[in-house]
Amino acid sequence: MLGLSTLLHQPQTVVFTGMENYPRTVLELEDRFSTEEACREYLLQMRWPEGFICPRCQNHGGWTATRGRVVCGACRYQASVMAGTIFQDTHKPLRMWFRAIWHLTSQKNGASAVSLQQALGLGSYQTAWAWLHKLRRAMVRPGRDQLHGRVEVDETYIGGEDTGKGRGRYMSHKALVAVTTEEDGRNIGRIRMARIPEATRAYLHGFIRQTVEPGSLVHTDGLPAYAGLKTLGYEHKVSVLLGKADDAAVRLLPGVHRVASLLKRWLLGTHQGAVSLEHLDYYLDEFTFRFNRRRSASRGKLFYRLIQQAVQIDPIPYKSIVGGKPDHKP
Ligand SMILES: [Zn+2]
Repeated sequence: MLGLSTLLHQPQTVVFTGMENYPRTVLELEDRFSTEEACREYLLQMRWPEGFICPRCQNHGGWTATRGRVVCGACRYQASVMAGTIFQDTHKPLRMWFRAIWHLTSQKNGASAVSLQQALGLGSYQTAWAWLHKLRRAMVRPGRDQLHGRVEVDETYIGGEDTGKGRGRYMSHKALVAVTTEEDGRNIGRIRMARIPEATRAYLHGFIRQTVEPGSLVHTDGLPAYAGLKTLGYEHKVSVLLGKADDAAVRLLPGVHRVASLLKRWLLGTHQGAVSLEHLDYYLDEFTFRFNRRRSASRGKLFYRLIQQAVQIDPIPYKSIVGGKPDHKP
């Protein structure tokens, strides 16, 4: 890897575009990110992959100062690598954050706040919970691509069931979630999902316009709310389920049904139902992030992607996540 000084002093000649540099194993993670300096250097490269560009004067190039700051070579502005990211104002070492991100991305089904607290030896459940929520917010890239080709769209209810284990607060109210899946031969391609207040034309059309490219073939059931998709520039295939056997929905719209059942299993499994309605959106984001990368050859790639997105988004003050209250402990 090129040293940071090279990156900063010769920004015109050093280009990192396309370089996906990440640890493959936990041992590599421990070796590479054993100091705050190493973590900050990694963040610098993620944030300015083509060399430092001053946020104030747009000048290319500068030099590093202490505590992860970069000084602009032209106007002397001091930019912090953490400012404006989810790491802003953190009191904990970056080494710990990197390990949290590894813990979250290296396991197929993710991590609960309790397991993260134990893995990192965090004193408080609240900290582990807040970190997971900040990281979930980084899982959705702003302006991400829309699905295209042949897609299925459907809605499903989440929650509203008694889990029978005394976890009375688990989603005691139902939430309606719109789901769309891309067809990829006989497999499911990418997915998108979002909570909607009700299955009306306005919400379902809004969801489709947000997540699916015009010109795509949208496959739905016969719900009248889906009518009119052609006027929005989509092709529309309707499978009428009314009067057919119970398993017709699963046969005719297999992608969305498969994803809905995996989502429910994940919420009850990894998170043991400790998900409340007001936070459901973030869990949907995490599920989507994982599902769309489920065939990634290396878990390290998810680590890389999450850090890359974490330095591209706005910082999230704890209070804005929840009005101060975490979900109840499972
Ligand atoms: Zn400048």
